Amino acid sequence: MAEYQTHDYDVLVIGAGGAGLRAAIEASSNGMRVGVITKSLLGKAHTVMAEGGIAAALSNVDERDNWKVHFSDTMRGGQYLNNWRMAELHAREAPERVRELEAWGALFDRTKDGRILQRNFGGHRYPRLAHVGDRTGLEMIRTLQDHGIHMGMEVHMECTVLTLLKDDGRIAGAFGYERERGRFLLFRARAVVLATGGIGRAYKITSNSWEYTGDGHALAYEAGASLIDMEFVQFHPTGMIWPPSVRGILVTEGVRGEGGVLKNKEGRRFLFDDIPENYRAQTADNEEEGWRYTQGDRNARRPPELLTRDHVARCIVREVREGRGSPHGGVFLDIAWIKSRLPDGAAHIRRKLPSMYHQFKQLADIDITEQQMEVGPTTHYVMGGVRVDADTQMSDVPGLFAAGECAGGLHGANRLGGNSLSDLLVFGKRAGEYAARFAKENGEVSANPDQIEEAARRALEPFGREGENPYHVQHDLQELMQDQVGIVRREEDMQRALDGLHALKQRACRVAVAGNREYNGGWHTALDLRNLLTVSEIITRAALERKESRGAQFREDYPSKNEEAGRSTIPVRKQPSGEMLVTRQPLKEMPVELQQVIAEMK
Ligand SMILES: Cc1cc2nc3c(=O)[nH]c(=O)nc-3n(C[C@H](O)[C@H](O)[C@H](O)COP(=O)(O)OP(=O)(O)OC[C@H]3O[C@@H](n4cnc5c(N)ncnc54)[C@H](O)[C@@H]3O)c2cc1C
Repeated sequence: MAEYQTHDYDVLVIGAGGAGLRAAIEASSNGMRVGVITKSLLGKAHTVMAEGGIAAALSNVDERDNWKVHFSDTMRGGQYLNNWRMAELHAREAPERVRELEAWGALFDRTKDGRILQRNFGGHRYPRLAHVGDRTGLEMIRTLQDHGIHMGMEVHMECTVLTLLKDDGRIAGAFGYERERGRFLLFRARAVVLATGGIGRAYKITSNSWEYTGDGHALAYEAGASLIDMEFVQFHPTGMIWPPSVRGILVTEGVRGEGGVLKNKEGRRFLFDDIPENYRAQTADNEEEGWRYTQGDRNARRPPELLTRDHVARCIVREVREGRGSPHGGVFLDIAWIKSRLPDGAAHIRRKLPSMYHQFKQLADIDITEQQMEVGPTTHYVMGGVRVDADTQMSDVPGLFAAGECAGGLHGANRLGGNSLSDLLVFGKRAGEYAARFAKENGEVSANPDQIEEAARRALEPFGREGENPYHVQHDLQELMQDQVGIVRREEDMQRALDGLHALKQRACRVAVAGNREYNGGWHTALDLRNLLTVSEIITRAALERKESRGAQFREDYPSKNEEAGRSTIPVRKQPSGEMLVTRQPLKEMPVELQQVIAEMK
């Protein structure tokens, strides 16, 4: 019999990033006993790394902005595959959520008259990102965790959930282990909110940290929930390229928002060569106009460097493939040039982009006020996630909610920068509110002892057997996904990837770990592998099913959009037989009022 400690909550939140903390605050304020679990330390979630800002139509810098423009920008960016109801709620509620954060103590950069300052970002028509230099995530998480602790949430740090528990079809809690001692833990709860972030560690080059192994996605899938939009993995166009030890680390879009430009090795701003038709009317057709836009000229149009991430990333890949890349296989990002326009340019760069300045100085010995940066695409974000009800955030499994990066729907085929932090606030709050309501309205549940025994047995399998090192399997998986299911995709590559994933699964079943259960990194990697393999297969199967190029999915064998495919999402779920079922689901018709909003903004 497995030994474990037991904790009882009304609402259990898995993940202590922005979405999890906001959900915990809301559930606590509804009188619930709330437990929060995090794989690392409180304050270290992905959210803390966010640099550029929170998108919300506060209209502090440009009064033409409002929720309708934000809604329309989000839908256009997502290539109209977004769940329109989520996009509407997000655009309407984001300003209130940001003001609330301010009331809880967040210190934002300010306009001259003391309001929250907003900056330009890719795909947003007006300056919209509330920010704190380039350390917005740090301020957000600091504020949320302080507030959450005061509201009474209990935090379990360095605990990893291995499986969700169910009672007669309803969610009943979660079972996991703590890193420090390797002991098992049982959490009983009437409602569970998944807020576990992304999947970036399925790829070799990524801006994501070690925690982002798709756990929430895989946990939900195993529990019977559907995942949608999983083919849409965002490759952020500007990750660091050099030196190899820092390859993939993010260079915020804020650099381009402040006037930074992208050039190929010939010094040409290649993005002017390829402006998509649906953005042509809003995009500057000369460098002078683009510069004026970044300096707040309301009559100027945005420079093409601020087009959506999917497009910019693909243009970079094209430059490199056609031999016009930088020495280490990327392109050049130049912010130093603004000194020719601004007398205090160097000081301005250091003030507006302090983390970027230090990142390049310390990691690559480059002074960005003097030199160009070498950048290239990096796996950054997954648009896909658990399918949820737009208003309540509940998944297909009663009592199981999801919010933030691990939930799907809001961003469609491509996320706009800044729309994640606002997503966490808007839908974190909603998930917490409706999870609390569910817990109040539904009686006690009991955890199934057989399910717990089985989870404990499986977790301990890698001990005491001969086998492969789990890091080797993880390494090969990351290579496979990078090469065969990356930015540019083809049927034959992805079919080979499925065979490769099958072989990796067999290897993962035989990995072995040495030592004991205390702080055993090898063991934790062995356990993460299951989730990484599950999400990798889901991504690959969904990408095969979508036979078109749209947003973040670029199929070399189907390079155009397909109107019919563009009207459906691709839900993936586990069948009772254990098989992965990939289907198509037509999008719900958008109400006429919202269609009008989009038409007006075109
Ligand atoms: C460098 C960088 C810069 C970014 N900049 C911006 C920006 O400026 N604006 C913007 O909108 N977005 C930005 N993003 C994206 C944004 O930061 C993330 O999408 C967002 O923070 C995700 O928040 P989340 O709450 O969903 O999850 P996270 O913040 O990723 O938190 C996930 C939590 O789940 C926990 N967890 C995971 N698995 C388990 C498990 N099995 N058991 C227990 N706990 C688990 C983790 O430990 C963590 O606490 C950026 C991302 C990066 C990497």
